[in-house]
Amino acid sequence: METESVKCLIIGSGPAGYTAAIYAARANLSPVLYEGLEPGGQLTTTTHIENFPGHPDRITGVQLMEDIKAQAVKYGADVRYGIVTAVDFSKKPFDITVDGRHTIEAETVIVATGATAKYLGLESEQLYKGMGVSACATCDGFLYKGKNVAVVGGGDTACEEASYLAGICNKVYMIVRKDYLRASKAMQHRVMTTPNIEILFGHNTVQVLGDENGVNGVLLRNSEGAEKVIDVDGFFLAIGHHPNTELFKGQLELDDAGYIVTKPGTPITNIEGVFAAGDVQDPHYRQAITAAGSGCMAALEVEHYLMTKDE
Ligand code: NDP
Repeated sequence: METESVKCLIIGSGPAGYTAAIYAARANLSPVLYEGLEPGGQLTTTTHIENFPGHPDRITGVQLMEDIKAQAVKYGADVRYGIVTAVDFSKKPFDITVDGRHTIEAETVIVATGATAKYLGLESEQLYKGMGVSACATCDGFLYKGKNVAVVGGGDTACEEASYLAGICNKVYMIVRKDYLRASKAMQHRVMTTPNIEILFGHNTVQVLGDENGVNGVLLRNSEGAEKVIDVDGFFLAIGHHPNTELFKGQLELDDAGYIVTKPGTPITNIEGVFAAGDVQDPHYRQAITAAGSGCMAALEVEHYLMTKDE
């Protein structure tokens, strides 16, 4: 097995990873970034981004990620295809295995592996992904201005997404499988008092309906087995996210939901020299710009750590 030594290894290629790479490259740390299974991250599964500052004419998620990557490469980041398959943070330098064979010794690591939205697992849902099916109301809601949409889920995210969509769309159905909402009382109150939100308790999605133009309805079944179709153009999943942290179990402190625990307001993990940025440590904000900001913070912490570790 060949072994390579790097000062700063970045795992993950969403806005957090690429932004960390820009900052680390400009600080002369010669960062090496592994892009992972989904180069560009979650943003590449959405359509247009209208809330990333600096793009008044909107930009596609794919283009935005290509631009941030190009900026990192321009300043000297070594961006590579490859999947990190094992990490050993118990020794220094850290041992990182890529694609099961290539070993890297890293003085510092930035974990920016993101999170993945949960889907129901329906074939029709996959068929219309990006054509009416979305897991991000803040990203895609505007496309449904004045139309009817549905949000699946009864947690805080679903209530927030439904409230957000209610301000844009004609009508929002919330599809809730139980006969109550799991969300906080304040969020429950908000959705229940918003006139254009209708909560369908005790309903499950049987099928997302559509044609070549995208989604045009959803077939639902209630707890008594009765079926009905609601006419909607957008179908938003808000049933939670999985942080992509399987690799770090037993290596880094994770919370009950699997997110990496960082010192509040910083990307500092429980292992000195390992930092976490973006959605992998943020169950709350989950925006491209907040992820990018935390990638910047992680690179600044790496720089500070390398400068002071031997003092
Ligand atoms: P949650 O796990 O809290 O809620 C998920 C919701 O999706 C539940 O209503 C659940 O139903 C439903 N669900 C899960 N799987 C399915 C399925 N297969 N079919 C239908 N429905 C399903 O996730 P959230 O993303 O809402 O929240 C995650 C965490 O983040 C929570 O702690 C939340 O409080 C927090 N958060 C806080 C916010 C705030 O304070 N402003 C904003 C957003 C999130 P069931 O109840 O039946 O299990």
